[in-house]
Amino acid sequence: MARYIILLGAPGAGKGTQAQIIHEKLGLPHISSGEIFRENLKNQTELGTLAEGYIKAGQLVPDEIAIKMIKERLSQPDCAYGAILDGFPRTTHQADALGQMLAEFNSSVECVLYITVDDQVLIERLSGRWVCRAEGHVYHVIYNPPKQPGICDIDGSALYQRDDDKPETVRQRIKVYYQQTQPLIDYYQQKGLLREIDGNQSIDEINEDIMKVLERIGVQ
Ligand code: ADP
Ligand code: ADP
Repeated sequence: MARYIILLGAPGAGKGTQAQIIHEKLGLPHISSGEIFRENLKNQTELGTLAEGYIKAGQLVPDEIAIKMIKERLSQPDCAYGAILDGFPRTTHQADALGQMLAEFNSSVECVLYITVDDQVLIERLSGRWVCRAEGHVYHVIYNPPKQPGICDIDGSALYQRDDDKPETVRQRIKVYYQQTQPLIDYYQQKGLLREIDGNQSIDEINEDIMKVLERIGVQ
């Protein structure tokens, strides 16, 4: 059976970091909606042009665009056995669309890992975040530094700071999260899929908690 795991949490909660580790441990592809948009922006595709203004303003890209994009990604052969979804869904409308999409594949969401972090910690994490150009691998200047400053440990590409990690945009993104994404907590709780993870711990401790939850539900 295919395993679709959602990572839910505010910007900076550690979704991308944990998704990367789960990917290394379980082999499921890591689908980061933000990274797909940034890649399209870099390559100046039609999708990138559509998304650009929203991303720069710290707003969500309209649902129809995000849904179409994820549909295309999940239809790729590497997602046939499941995927780790990082950054999608972000609204209840997106969550409904994802449910329908997976039903078409005779599948469903396996679980939603909800990473909780205090707001003060989010800002500290985002202001020190560095990302690799090639594949979006994530580092932090203090909490998770690369072995060689400015270079990705995994693929050797250059690290950069995201434009939308500037303090004004970060505050806007956290606001948008509370308004538009937080309703998903109730949405998935009601479906019995939500698993809360304390994100105010070290990267390794959080991952231990996540792997225990996944083991308990039989994802290994
Ligand atoms: P973070 O995890 O730090 O919030 P992401 O990389 O997930 O950042 O997202 C960056 C930006 O990409 C968002 O602020 C938003 O503009 C856009 N985005 C990413 N995923 C979605 C989505 N599912 N729906 C709408 N917009 C999205
Ligand atoms: P998200 O995908 O939820 O926006 P990231 O995984 O990109 O979050 O993490 C945001 C920043 O915080 C990155 O710089 C990352 O290296 C750092 N980080 C992630 N998890 C932790 C943690 N548990 N403790 C300290 N820093 C962390």
